[in-house]
Amino acid sequence: MSGILLVADHANGKLADISAEMVGAAALVKDGIGGPLTVVVIARSPGDFTAALNLPGVDEIVTVETPGEHFDPAITEEAVCQIAMTMQPRLILAGNTVNGMAYAAAVAARLGSGFASDCISLAVEEGAIVATRSGYGAKVNMDLAFPGRPVVTLTLRGATFIAPEGAGQATVSAAAVDLSQVAGMIEHVDYTEAPPANVDIEKAEFILSIGRGIGDEKAVPRFQALADKLGATLGCSRPVADSGWLPKPHQVGQSGKVASNCKLYVALGISGAVQHLFGMKHIDTVIAVNTDADAPIFSVAKYGATVDLFELADALERQFN
Ligand code: FAD
Repeated sequence: MSGILLVADHANGKLADISAEMVGAAALVKDGIGGPLTVVVIARSPGDFTAALNLPGVDEIVTVETPGEHFDPAITEEAVCQIAMTMQPRLILAGNTVNGMAYAAAVAARLGSGFASDCISLAVEEGAIVATRSGYGAKVNMDLAFPGRPVVTLTLRGATFIAPEGAGQATVSAAAVDLSQVAGMIEHVDYTEAPPANVDIEKAEFILSIGRGIGDEKAVPRFQALADKLGATLGCSRPVADSGWLPKPHQVGQSGKVASNCKLYVALGISGAVQHLFGMKHIDTVIAVNTDADAPIFSVAKYGATVDLFELADALERQFN
C-alpha cells in the first residue's frame, strides 16, 4: 500500500478552500508515505474543478460523475471505497466539513482503516502516520498513531494547512466505479441559508456580551436595548446561541467568532470557559460581571464585579436613560 487519496470538497458549485489546504497537508507526508498523491473529485460536472485542483504536488486527478448535482454521502462513500480498494492508498484525506463528516468515518469503517477527525497536524515518524488533534475541549493536543492499520483515514481542519500556489502537472482521468447500488438512496431536499448576520463580532470595538447567567431568553431584548444605548455590539457565549436566544453570528469563542478588533469587552454572566476565552482573552479591557468570585472569566479581566448582572443592568439603565 502506498500513496495518498484526497477527496476534494465542494458545495453549491464552489470548491471549498479545504481542498487545496489538504494538498498542502499531503505534501508534508508524501515523501514519508511514498507513492502518488491522487485527488478524487466527485460531482455532477467534476471537470469544473479539475483546473483548480491541479496544484503542485498532485500527481493525478480522478473524476467521478454523479447522477445528482448535490452532495450525496452514500455516493461519496461508495465511490471513495471503490477507488481506495483499487488504488490501495496508505492515507485517505477528507475535509472536516459537513460533507467530510458525513462519509469519512463510514469509509474508514468499511475499509477497516485507522481514523481520526479534525486533525490539525500530520507527520510520518519512523514510517508511521501520526496525526495531531485537540482533545478535552481544546485543552490539550494529542498525537495519534494507528498501530496495525495499513490504511489511515483522516479528516483535516480547515484554515490550518497552507495551500500550495501555482499550477501542477497532474493527469486527469475518469474513475471506473459502479454507483448503481447507492444511486437514489438519499434525496437532497433543500439548502437552508443561514439568516444574514447583522452583527460583525470580528470588527466590533465595544462588545457587551451575555452568557447563560442571564437565565432566560426573555432577558435578551433588555440587553440588546442596553447594548444599543451604550453603542456596543451584543455578543454572547455559546449556550445563548445554541439555545436560539441569539443568532449564531453573535457568538464569541472557538466555535464562534474571535473579537479581533475589540477594545472593550463587558462579560455579563459568562463563566469564562477556555473556548469562550479563545475569542476574547486578548482584549485589553475586559470587564467581568459574575456572582461567582472564582469564575475563570476574572483571570482575563482588568475590572471585575461580583454582583448580580441584573442589578448592574439596572444601574446602567438609570445612568444612561
Ligand atoms: P456557564 O458556564 O453556565 O456560566 C454562567 C455564569 O453566569 C456562571 O459563571 C454564573 O456564576 C454566572 N451567573 C449566573 N447568574 C448570574 C447573575 N444573576 N449575575 C451574574 N452572574 C451570574 N463557548 C463559548 O462561549 N464560545 C464558543 O465558541 C464555544 N465553543 C466551544 C467549542 C467546543 C468544541 C466545546 C466543547 C465547547 C465550546 N463552548 C464555547 C462552550 C464552553 O465550554 C462553555 O460551556 C460555555 O462558554 C459556557 O457558557 P456560559 O459562560 O454562558 O455559561
